[in-house]
Amino acid sequence: MKDLIKLLEELSSCPGPPGGEEPVANLIRKHLKSQCQIQRDGLGSLIAFKEGTRKQPRIMLTAHMDEVGFMLQNITKDGYLRLQPLGGWIASHLPGQRLHVHGSKGAVEGIVASIPPHFSKEQKSEVKVEDLLLDVGAASRDEVASLGLQLGDLITPASHFAVYNEKFLANKGWDDRVGCAVLIAAVKKLKKHPNTVAAAATVQEEVGSRGAVTAVEVAKPQAAIVLEGPPADDLPGVAKDSPQGALGKGCQIRLYDPSIIIHRRFWQWAAELAQAKKISHQLAVRQSGATDARAIHLAQGGIPTVVLGVPVRHAHSHSGLINLHDVQATLDLTVAILEKLDNKKLKSLLPA
Ligand SMILES: [Zn+2]
Repeated sequence: MKDLIKLLEELSSCPGPPGGEEPVANLIRKHLKSQCQIQRDGLGSLIAFKEGTRKQPRIMLTAHMDEVGFMLQNITKDGYLRLQPLGGWIASHLPGQRLHVHGSKGAVEGIVASIPPHFSKEQKSEVKVEDLLLDVGAASRDEVASLGLQLGDLITPASHFAVYNEKFLANKGWDDRVGCAVLIAAVKKLKKHPNTVAAAATVQEEVGSRGAVTAVEVAKPQAAIVLEGPPADDLPGVAKDSPQGALGKGCQIRLYDPSIIIHRRFWQWAAELAQAKKISHQLAVRQSGATDARAIHLAQGGIPTVVLGVPVRHAHSHSGLINLHDVQATLDLTVAILEKLDNKKLKSLLPA
């Protein structure tokens, strides 16, 4: 567990907004290079192949490397920076938060402008990200340039890792660094598996699963397991009925979201496996959101795909929270599937 926590800290602390995933890719390569054959695709996704006792079937195990962030969109004449969101943000959550702008001289910290109560006459009903300004302590465009910043620089939340109450982990970017951690841990843990695992760490999921579209062509899988950090719905008042993504309730097995109807036999088999191995799990019919599964299941004539998730509380913000029990359950179920999914099993899941 200590190693897993260290891996989670390392991955979530790494900056990697869409289009700037290189630091995450380097970390994943460091962990997997001794036991996998590693390839990169043209957009930057990393695919690590690990052959088991059989070459076939080929199973794609995938998690996305990018986190929600921003791009430096413009610089005002008085030295404030404007933000282009990369991925889904709620603008009203941002004022007063700190961000890191990754420029040519390293990361520069700034604060998203926040009008104090003394000056704000009436609360604006709708804040837009386009209206926000980032204050890096510069008074002109020249001063911004002297900090090594320019248009197109990538921006991530300035956050830090912490352990709460021994079982919860806090940091930015759990969506989907927790998936990356499970991917690495599962590949390392696999000893005898009757298939070849193509572990794909994809780029640009948060802007529309662009990395998955290309990575699946390199992985060429017959089945896929998508590892995600979906939003938890266990805060008071969030779920209409009982939550389907509660912290501490185990691995979330997704059955549906608007971008995919999950392969029924595949998820049912995964749930049976979890039951048999006493791995705690929760089923979710999601009414919003999507994952890389949207691109993968439609590739190459159709790929049976399941989505396993570690629920993230306060997702798509500066600081999210995950539960270690859910990480362990997701890892256990991933390994259990990979140890059992041979040609015969896969055939039994496919339409006759
Ligand atoms: Zn995600």
